[in-house]
Parts: sequence; structure tokens; C-alpha cells
Amino acid sequence: MDPAAPLIDPFARAISYLRVSVTDRCDFRCTYCMAEQMTFLPKADLLSLEELDRLCSAFVRLGVQKLRITGGEPLVRKGILTFFQAMSRHLETGALKELTLTTNGSQLRKYAADLAACGVKRINVSLDTLDDAKFAKITRWGRLPQVLDGIAAAREAGMAIKINAVALKGFNEDELYTLADWCARDGHDLTFIEVMPMGDLGEPQRLDQYWSLKDLRARLADRFTLIDLPDRTGGPARYVRLAETGQRIGFITPLTHNFCESCNRVRLTCTGELYMCLGQEDMADLRAPLRASPDDALLTQSIRAAIARKPKGHDFDYSRQKVAGQMTRHMSHTGG
Ligand code: SAM
Ligand code: SF4
Repeated sequence: MDPAAPLIDPFARAISYLRVSVTDRCDFRCTYCMAEQMTFLPKADLLSLEELDRLCSAFVRLGVQKLRITGGEPLVRKGILTFFQAMSRHLETGALKELTLTTNGSQLRKYAADLAACGVKRINVSLDTLDDAKFAKITRWGRLPQVLDGIAAAREAGMAIKINAVALKGFNEDELYTLADWCARDGHDLTFIEVMPMGDLGEPQRLDQYWSLKDLRARLADRFTLIDLPDRTGGPARYVRLAETGQRIGFITPLTHNFCESCNRVRLTCTGELYMCLGQEDMADLRAPLRASPDDALLTQSIRAAIARKPKGHDFDYSRQKVAGQMTRHMSHTGG
């Protein structure tokens, strides 16, 4: 086989998108994501930034064109800017089309300008509420003004911002229009995410939190005219445009919709585990082949073998009033 042949899975899906969790640590403790007392991985288990570089570069050589850095909170990883600087070389050669990140926004004031200088043009910032007290409650440790200031810094640096909000029953239902208006005013795209069964936070709590995006969408349609958009990113989001504001709104609905047929992505954890599907337990350890030899032949072979096992889809299902397809991993482990 041509060593640079692109990665194609058994269902003829080309793998062009890698999401990389660079740390499982975070400066927040969002209630749907983490327990308050989390046990984090021993630092020695983490891939070094040099190892992450080698791994990501191998994927880029195999046809990955989009790299999303996530976590945990990616911007709390020590030295993370060096890693972005290193990845920007793949943008310069044209091999990589997009370098981006998903962040809680807390460190953006510090990093936005440097990230923009590395070629990061668009970022996703997670924000579930615009109310100070509710923000403190849902993130446990976060402070809203710091995040809003971070978002302002990213805008000043010229980056486009997409806000990701987890739809949470009884929590941000009443802020649907407020969030939409705020994003429209500042020119941010907005995407709503259904809460997923990641990490064992207790089943009753999970079902209590679940607000179906079908309901959310219907409520949005009470006030706005929704125009369905054909935009597809190979990912789980479906988009509409609000006729009144021109704003684009996305819906990530792993539980009411199945989107797996067009999946183009895989996920790498900070310890070098490659998950071929967010909703399945199967993974491939890439740290061992990475460390076994300084050239990339073994690593490339292991990546190909993993892609050949990419499953057709996930099995999340809440429809019988119980959580099916529950994953034992927390979202911060695989990188949301
Ligand atoms: N710390 C960064 C942040 O919050 O954006 C990046 C990592 S975080 C795990 C990525 C995304 O996953 C966030 O938008 C977060 O809201 C989402 N998330 C975390 N746990 C989730 C869950 N159980 N269901 C749905 N989304 C979840
Ligand atoms: Fe941290 Fe992001 Fe998880 Fe919140 S969602 S605890 S910010 S990793």
C-alpha cells in the first residue's frame, strides 16, 4: 500500500478530521461533564507535546485536513502555545486546512492573539448561560465575566466564534431567546448540544437534564422563521438560518437523530488512545507504537489498523426512559 494513501474506513468514509484532547484537566467542573472531585490521570501517562506533534503530523500525512484541539480545557495544558505554533507549519504547507479548538473561554484573554497568529481563524466557545449566578452553578468553578472577556479578546484578534450551549432542561430553557439574541448581536454562530450519557454522574440526574432539541427547535420556531440549511460539516450538526436575524443556528442531536453515516472523524486522547467513535468503547492504543520506534512505520500501521475497525455508529438512546449506550468515559477524557 502507498504509505501516504488516505484513511478510508470499512464504510467508505474518508477520515479527514482529528479531534485531539491534550489534557483531561480543567479549571471548571461543569455538572454534566465532571464530578466535583475528579481523579485525573497521572501526569506521567500523558503524551508529551512532542509526542502529540508526532502523532498529529502522522495523521496529517495520512490525509487529515482539520485538527481540533480540545480537552479537558486545552488552554490549561502547560506549553500549549508551542504545540499550536508547531501545528501551524502544516497550515503553511497547505496539508492542513483548518487548525481550531474548543474551549471554555477562561484563558482566551491570555492566548487569543497568539492563537490567531498561529492561523487559528475560528473557535468554539462553550457557554450555556448568560446569567452570572447560573454560570457559577453549572460550571461550579467558572466566572462568567472572565469568559465574556475572553470571547471579546478572541473577537479583537479577528477570530470567528461559535458558541456551543448544552441544552439543559430547567436550566437554560428560559434563555433560548436571550442566547440567540446575544449571539446575533455579536455575530456569533450558535449551536445547541443534547446532553450525552458520558461518565457516570448517575442516571436520574442525566434524564433530569435532558432537553430534546426537537422541543428546543419548536420553541425557537414560535418566535423565528427557521430556514433549513444544507450545510454539513461531516459532523453531527444540522443547521437553520433565522429569517429575521440572518443568524445560523446548529443542532447537535446524537440522541434524537442518527448522523453516523457521514462521520469523517476520530478522536485521540491525551494518553494516545484513538477512539474511532465517541459512542463506543473500542479504542486503539497509539502510544505504544509511537514509543516503540522513532520512525513512523509502526505508528502508521497501527493508525490504519484502527481505522479499519471504525464502527458504523453509536448506540445512545434515551427513548425508553432509561439511559442506553451509556459510556463510562467522561467527555473530558475523549474530548468533546
Ligand atoms: N473545556 C472545553 C469546553 O468546555 O469547551 C473543551 C472540552 S468540553 C468536554 C467540549 C464540549 O463538550 C463542551 O461544549 C461541553 O459543553 C460538551 N460536553 C461536556 N459534557 C457533555 C455531555 N455529557 N453531553 C453533551 N455535551 C457535553
Ligand atoms: Fe471543563 Fe469543558 Fe468539561 Fe466544562 S465542559 S468541565 S469546561 S472540559
